[in-house]
Parts: sequence; structure tokens; C-alpha cells
Amino acid sequence: MGGRTRRGAAILLAAVTACAPLNQLGGRLGLDPGPLRLADPVDSSTRAKLLVLDRDPAVCRAWLKGEGVAVSSVADRTEGEFCSLQGAVRLGADLGGARLRFSPAAPVTRCGVAAALAVWRRRVVDPAAQEILRAGVSGVDHFGSYACRRVNNAAAGRVSGHARAAALDVAGFRLSDGRRITVVGDWAGNDAEARFLRRVRDESCRVFSQVLSPDYNAVHHDHLHLELGGYGLCR
Ligand SMILES: [Zn+2]
Repeated sequence: MGGRTRRGAAILLAAVTACAPLNQLGGRLGLDPGPLRLADPVDSSTRAKLLVLDRDPAVCRAWLKGEGVAVSSVADRTEGEFCSLQGAVRLGADLGGARLRFSPAAPVTRCGVAAALAVWRRRVVDPAAQEILRAGVSGVDHFGSYACRRVNNAAAGRVSGHARAAALDVAGFRLSDGRRITVVGDWAGNDAEARFLRRVRDESCRVFSQVLSPDYNAVHHDHLHLELGGYGLCR
């Protein structure tokens, strides 16, 4: 499906999910995507449902609780002209029955991003590791989420998704057998580690709105930028 078609479908699904009468109409038309559940595979409605959750921190938090995803609250704050944390959460290690240790620290993100990370861990990262590397994923190394800055640290221009904690920069993974995989060291080539990282990049695009890897530009040579909301890019 092309980007425009996918975006159109996402907008339609977001509208269908957000509005009860439309939801009933969508159900009659066979469009009702049903509620988001961690137990379900990622499909064409997953990202739209996450975007709907992201709009309402209270609904989002109730969803996390219902799915057993452990988070703690973070105080709202605004900083400078364009930076804010609103309804953000600190993600614990229990992502709904599946543990994942974030290093160097538990990330603080928008609630919808925490929900997206729980889906991503269960439905993207772990299956890819099991299939390609024959191991589970026990940890994620990251460069952080909230950062009050513009895209690529520029002095002017578009505000980064990091300025509202809508993105996480993933530097690598720790496997249950002790192996470590890094974007900077393992992206190139065609061995199992490289294939795992590229599969994670590709499938992350079905969960997040914007996924940037070393294939995008040199700024991303050492991490995957995973963002919910913002420009739709997958590269
Ligand atoms: Zn980033």
C-alpha cells in the first residue's frame, strides 16, 4: 500500500475508533477495527489505534493498566517555546507479562509511546529475535526520549518529536543468551544481527508513525528513531 493510501486508511480508522456512531457505522460496513490488544498481532489498524490512545492520557493509562503494562506518572512541565511533557509516563520493566529492561534508565515518554513500545516489544522485537537470532530480547539500550530541541539539533526549523517525548532513540538490544546487538556495529552486512535490525526497522513502521534508521541519514548511523505522531516516514 502506498504512503498516501496508508495515511488515508489511518485517518479513517482513527475517526472510526474515536467516534461511537461512526464506529457503529464502521462495524456495519465491516470496518470496525475492534479494541487494541497486546495479545493481537499488529495489523493495518494498530498504529491508528495507538494514535487515538495517545490523544487522551487518562484513557491511555487505563489501557496500559488493563494490559498489565507497568508505568509511573511524571509531572507535567513545559520548557522554552515548544517543549512540553503532558500526561507522560515512566515505563517500568513489565510490559504486560513480558519483561524488558531499558538502559541506561526507564524512558519517560508520552503515554501513547509507552503503549506503542509495549506492542513493539511483544509483536515486533521479540518475534524477530526468536525467528532470526533464536533468542529472546531482554533489554533495550537507548539514547533517550524527551529532549528539548529541534530536528537534528538544528538552531531553527522543525521541532523534534523528542521535544514532546513522542520518540525514543534505540541504540541496541540485549538478548536472553547474553548477546548484545548495536545499530552502530551490526547494521551493515547481511548476517543474522543485521537482518534482525532491518526486520525490526521495517516492522516498527507498522506501529510507529516515523521510523528512521542508518538508511535515512548519517545522524541516525547509531540508532533507530521511533516516533508516534509527526511526519509519516519509514526509512
Ligand atoms: Zn530520535
